[in-house]
Amino acid sequence: MTNPTPLIAGNWKMNGLAASLSEARAVAAALTPGGPRVAICPPATLISRAAEALAGTGLEVGGEDCRAEASGAFTGDVSAEMLADAGARLVILGHSERRAGYGESDALVASKVLAALRAGLEPIICVGETLEERRAGKALEVVAAQVAGSLPSDLAGKAFAVAYEPVWAIGTGLTPSTDEIVEVHRAIRAGLVSRFGDHGRVPPILYGGSVKPTNADEILHADEVGGALVGGASLKAEDFLGIIRALA
Ligand code: PEP
Repeated sequence: MTNPTPLIAGNWKMNGLAASLSEARAVAAALTPGGPRVAICPPATLISRAAEALAGTGLEVGGEDCRAEASGAFTGDVSAEMLADAGARLVILGHSERRAGYGESDALVASKVLAALRAGLEPIICVGETLEERRAGKALEVVAAQVAGSLPSDLAGKAFAVAYEPVWAIGTGLTPSTDEIVEVHRAIRAGLVSRFGDHGRVPPILYGGSVKPTNADEILHADEVGGALVGGASLKAEDFLGIIRALA
């Protein structure tokens, strides 16, 4: 059974205009063979242009969310098929900003994962506890429930990643200790193996939450950390490359 292939994915969130693609081009130009897989997930408005600009480079393109349905009367929404058609190969699902801001449940996230698989996209499924849940000693329980509820059985044998993103670490500059990260990542791995058997050892488990060039080396070399989902530090090529280089 293969070891997880490390993945560093940048989540641009609602940031980026056409001019921002120069940052993506600079990242692509600096990637070296033997490094991790690297992707950027820009807003839906930029996916097609990013895919064209990055074609033939090692930098992959993903979406930040999708609707579960393939098409229909859902004004303002984007389907997995549309993301794939625009050139995306991956999609972030269940980000805490979607779970908290749009009331996305585990069941809804699972239905979006099915949509991603239907469209041939590789889902990056986000889980993570709030500060209150961590303080109450419930981090492992919360994350295990999210993994169980957000990952449909159809993922068996498919390419996907799980991102552990403690809600309180996103965009705050705070990070859990390395021991705390490892504890959660090992628990996620155990959950994946009990659910998917040997295939549960294949998906990389990314850490996300205030990853920067200064902490990337320690976090990315911790046990069961198979890469990172990076928000703020993925917007500037220099910062994102500083993180990528920790695994290059
Ligand atoms: C994120 O939003 O997925 C994230 C990890 O953000 P940041 O790196 O800015 O904390």
